[in-house]
Amino acid sequence: MNIKDLKVGLQSNGIRVLAGNKGRKGGAGPAGSNMFIFGDTVVSAPTFAKFVSKSPYNIELDGNIGILRKEDEEITEVRVPRPRFYDLKTKDGIPYKKIALLHGEDCLATTVVQRCIYWNTPERCKFCGIELSKEVTVEVKKPEELLEVAEAAKRLDGVTHATLTTGTVRGRDRGIWMLSRCASAIKSARISVHVQFEPPKDLACIDDLYENGVDTVGIHIESFDKEVLGYIAPAKAKIGIERYVEAWKRSVDIFGENQVSSFIIAGLGESDESIIDGSKILVDLGVYPFVLPLSPIPGTYLEDEVPPSFKRMKNIYESVSDIIKDANLSWKKSKAGCVRCRACSALDVFEE
Ligand code: SF4
Repeated sequence: MNIKDLKVGLQSNGIRVLAGNKGRKGGAGPAGSNMFIFGDTVVSAPTFAKFVSKSPYNIELDGNIGILRKEDEEITEVRVPRPRFYDLKTKDGIPYKKIALLHGEDCLATTVVQRCIYWNTPERCKFCGIELSKEVTVEVKKPEELLEVAEAAKRLDGVTHATLTTGTVRGRDRGIWMLSRCASAIKSARISVHVQFEPPKDLACIDDLYENGVDTVGIHIESFDKEVLGYIAPAKAKIGIERYVEAWKRSVDIFGENQVSSFIIAGLGESDESIIDGSKILVDLGVYPFVLPLSPIPGTYLEDEVPPSFKRMKNIYESVSDIIKDANLSWKKSKAGCVRCRACSALDVFEE
């Protein structure tokens, strides 16, 4: 089994789950997909989107185990995590899985505010499904509940780090205050914490995260193609690249090289050069370029799109992983979050 080809192939084609758990349909982050662990890696592979019906990859899960097949050929055994903390509830009767989820193998993930000021406006990011899962999640998470879930997830499922994201909220801090409080609570469970946010107007907010124990941060430009970003994520485009650069620089000063990251999504209409040149800009600042393919979520504006082809993603991963290695950055050095989780990008296997 060539693990690089397999991980890229699964991201580009998805997996037809013929029996068993297909994963999560909507929400923020990797929705419309499930987590599959095989070899030394884990992948978030699409399972719900329309294009998946044409995938050669298929699986029948027996509990949390199954044999992955390409058409009829057996490829490898894979495991789908079934976290034990999902069976628990808070003393007020809220199921833990409505507060946080397991991402990848050992990452607790939550959206602390599951709504976004851009959702009912033309400025909503077209790939995002943040408000599609409001009925299956607590809309605003409380720090004390997150701590309770984090302690259980660590004890029962070996969780070692956490990713906290948020919809954009009103205010100069863009939700950072809320992220700080939640991060500080989770740190009490001795779990490393990653938080994701828009560049704030007041950069001192980033210092506040560090003081509250945050280990790594993600400030996601999504695309370095100005025109593409203007169409796909108009609110982010309005912020302007200069403010992203300021926020990345300030964050690297505080958290250190390799502890700051940015998503670059492939498949939004950009060229390969835009991704590769953007990755160089990030790496020169000490920021890890977390390149990943578009994974269209059912119910979003991009639900009928398809991820980039296997061939295109493989070339992009090869180029970007060379840039990362030349700069002596690595997913292995990241203390927490998406870079360490690596389910949504195949850069980890290309770094080997
Ligand atoms: S890479 Fe990030 S968004 Fe993707 S599954 Fe892991 S923690 Fe979640």
